[in-house]
Amino acid sequence: MSAKLVYMFDEADASMRKLLGGKGANLGEMTRLGLPVPPGFTITTDACRYYSKHGEMPAGLMDQVRAAMTKLEQKMGKRFGDSSNPLLLSVRSGAAVSMPGMMDTVLNLGLNRETLAGLVKSSSDERFALDANRRFIMMFADVVMGISKKRFDALFNEQKRALRIKLDTELPAAALKTIKNDFLALVLTETGEGFPGDVWRQLEMSIEAVFASWNNDRAIVYRKNEGIPDDMGTAVNVQAMVFGNLGDDCGTGVAFTRDPATGENGLYGEYLMNAQGEDVVAGVRTPQPISSLKTVMPAVYAEFVKVCDTLEAHYRDMQDLEFTIERGKLYMLQARTGKRTGPAAVRIAVEMVGEGLITRQEAIDRVSASHLDQLLHPRIDAKKLEASGVTPIGSGIAASPGAAVGRVYFDADTAANHGETEPVILVSDETTPDDVHGMLASKGVLTVHGGKTSHAAVVARGFGIPCVSGCEALDLDEEALTASLGGQLINEGDWITINGSTGEVYNTKLDLVVPEVSGNFEQLMSWCDAERSLSIRANADNPRDAAQAVAFGAEGIGLCRTEHMFFERDRLPIVQDMILTEDEQQRQAALQKLEVVQQTDFESIFRVMDGRPVTIRLLDPPLHEFLPSYDELVREVTELRLAANVLKGTALQGVLDDKVAMLKAVEAMREANPMMGLRGVRLSVMLPGLVAMQVRAIMRAAILVKGKGIAVNPEIMIPLVGHINELKTVQSQLEAVAKEILDAAHIELPYKFGTMIEIPRAALTAAEIAGTAEFFSFGTNDLTQMTFGYSRDDAEGRFLQTYVDRGVLESNPFETLDQAGVGRLMELAVSEGRAARAGLKCGICGEHGGDPKSIDFCHNLGLDYVSCSPYRVPIARLAAAQAALRANGAKAAKGAKTAKGAKAAKGAKTAKAAKAAKTDS
Ligand code: ADP
Ligand code: MG
Ligand code: MG
Repeated sequence: MSAKLVYMFDEADASMRKLLGGKGANLGEMTRLGLPVPPGFTITTDACRYYSKHGEMPAGLMDQVRAAMTKLEQKMGKRFGDSSNPLLLSVRSGAAVSMPGMMDTVLNLGLNRETLAGLVKSSSDERFALDANRRFIMMFADVVMGISKKRFDALFNEQKRALRIKLDTELPAAALKTIKNDFLALVLTETGEGFPGDVWRQLEMSIEAVFASWNNDRAIVYRKNEGIPDDMGTAVNVQAMVFGNLGDDCGTGVAFTRDPATGENGLYGEYLMNAQGEDVVAGVRTPQPISSLKTVMPAVYAEFVKVCDTLEAHYRDMQDLEFTIERGKLYMLQARTGKRTGPAAVRIAVEMVGEGLITRQEAIDRVSASHLDQLLHPRIDAKKLEASGVTPIGSGIAASPGAAVGRVYFDADTAANHGETEPVILVSDETTPDDVHGMLASKGVLTVHGGKTSHAAVVARGFGIPCVSGCEALDLDEEALTASLGGQLINEGDWITINGSTGEVYNTKLDLVVPEVSGNFEQLMSWCDAERSLSIRANADNPRDAAQAVAFGAEGIGLCRTEHMFFERDRLPIVQDMILTEDEQQRQAALQKLEVVQQTDFESIFRVMDGRPVTIRLLDPPLHEFLPSYDELVREVTELRLAANVLKGTALQGVLDDKVAMLKAVEAMREANPMMGLRGVRLSVMLPGLVAMQVRAIMRAAILVKGKGIAVNPEIMIPLVGHINELKTVQSQLEAVAKEILDAAHIELPYKFGTMIEIPRAALTAAEIAGTAEFFSFGTNDLTQMTFGYSRDDAEGRFLQTYVDRGVLESNPFETLDQAGVGRLMELAVSEGRAARAGLKCGICGEHGGDPKSIDFCHNLGLDYVSCSPYRVPIARLAAAQAALRANGAKAAKGAKTAKGAKAAKGAKTAKAAKAAKTDS
């Protein structure tokens, strides 16, 4: 390998991140900007890749290193291994993406018996030289030779104890000498070889250790977790040391150019006087806030502020910086784009537009979905929590984001009762459709079992209720109405706090910060709205959700699931009556009652939506979902029978009879595979009275609301169509119902009939279906199930995670739309549907409608809208804008390729550099 494997910092720049790693590329960029960076060089990731492949250093690498060292020695006016004025080095790893888990930094490399004497001479400070030496031995032995740092710490602390000394800086030279000898003796006994005295050997061993660390267990696990490719490799940075531990005019620290928690513009960070890098995090002394540097060293502080301004203006983003002060002189050791919280991301992006630093489009690009997610839910007040010292008593799966505080109740009915007067957290083993009313009345839900896609998790996310699921350590005693977790007893009515964003559970009432749709947030959203072409709708089943959706900027309802209204408190018994009765008159009576309540629901939803389109899906689930579970009934009937045998002729018999009747009905409705059984449009064909009732309720509500001068725009959606004749049969009946009601009222209003596209056959026959349907809405949950042939619950419970872990599938297709399969069906349906009916409105209402990657796909597909949970509406607005910007950027790039001219090339180059700088190092 004869290629160039070593770059001096002044040969490098920010665009070389892939070759030189983030740290190396930015050290190069800062050097170019003329900032005070200790000189050095970077060994490329190519060299590391070679090492990983062949298990040995590339031939000629050390020659290139020696050549670079000669240049470095010239710049520094010091020689490596010199016995009168030795050059010392830091050896630092750094991949293209930030990767904890790789080798830690080795500082003060190049010390041995001779150079130590030289350092004493050149610094005229024996204590400092010995301090540097003990640090070097420990770091080198730890990271290169694999002897745990703890062993050295023990020896070090032993000396401190013996001398009754508290601070490291108070250790006298004599003690440091003893420590040095103890350290060297430890290395000798541990390795049998002793500490390498040859400085070149020290350097080579460190470089090799960095390469080898790319494939240590920690690094491999981290990469797997973060989806970082294994063949990227790390670079090695070799840099002249600067010393923050030379006395009280020295120090080291870290700072952000803006507050990473709030986004406030101003320096934020801390530093430690008379210290080297690792002391700041090690907690040996308490670091000082950066602002106090202003009084301690005003000139250095002023220079640092200037450097920060330069770097922010250059990278045009908030920077995370590391620096060291040596005898009153400032040195910059690292710059990278700073990580930030959601609130900070929004504030920084918007304020930087105001400062003229970035464009609105760039601001949109800098905020991520997870940033916004943090803003949209109540969170635990982190500052108060820290001050209180309260810690979680346990944790489960972070199933639905946001924090909730309330009193514990262990069943849905009790929770629903108390929910009217006090904040409630529903705590149970798991939840079922029977518990929905209790969930709705609760501030949060905590379950023992279930994952991110359990009933509790899905329903809670849909309602925007924080949820922690799968808290398996929670020991629930539903009889005694107690629970215990982490050795703490929780009684009914006790206060707890759950954090659905982290999964943590606290057995106390914590203070929350309520999301504030602040000026910056609104500003950013309005910029997004100007860029996007997709409309954003929400999935909302009740007026409360509809109002929330509108508040978050929804332009319509893309999915209103009528069956969710059936689950509300007083309605389930009516629904059950309607299903169970064999008497036609009784069924009509039940339907009548339902029609009244449905109509009032629709009225309030129409009122809230104020003329925006509302897509209402007719009844979809199989009817048994409204009935108690079969297994549960069998158990109850058995128990009751036993009891009735003992207590003959009591009131028990009546209860038993009811249960037996219910069991019979449920048994009669049992299906081997309800997902593919009597549901959706099939139910409407078999039981036309039910959907006719729903359409009557919708149209009567529309007429009433319109009569009050409020525009209405209903879109009636027929689910689960697979064959055009299903749609034709049901739609013509329902159109007649709608028309009759409108004619009787002598009112005209716009309404549409359309269908879900959620069965592959519907997509494949889209042209035919568009002949009848006036709009398409992709139900991508079912479409994914049917395309893959997976039942979602079974797949997610059993094999899907393994599939993703083993790389059989790239991601969970229920979370991120499968573009190659499901997406292909959508593409076909859109193009053939629109060919058959010009301007056919197409949208998506599956959970994918709130997933940024899937939204990007929907944009490129030319859908009219995406529909998602109300709490994801702002995220969808952002993702739709980002998708539009990406698509335009791709188009522009294509154009630029053909267009010639130095100007275009130059623009592209700076844009590339800015982009390279953006990703974290
Ligand atoms: P990390 O990736 O963990 O931040 P670094 O390579 O940045 O590791 O090194 C950690 C710390 O070591 C730095 O913050 C700095 O304080 C110290 N350090 C690194 N290089 C030098 C140097 N040339 N001179 C003095 N201190 C250094
Ligand atoms: Mg660092
Ligand atoms: Mg469906």
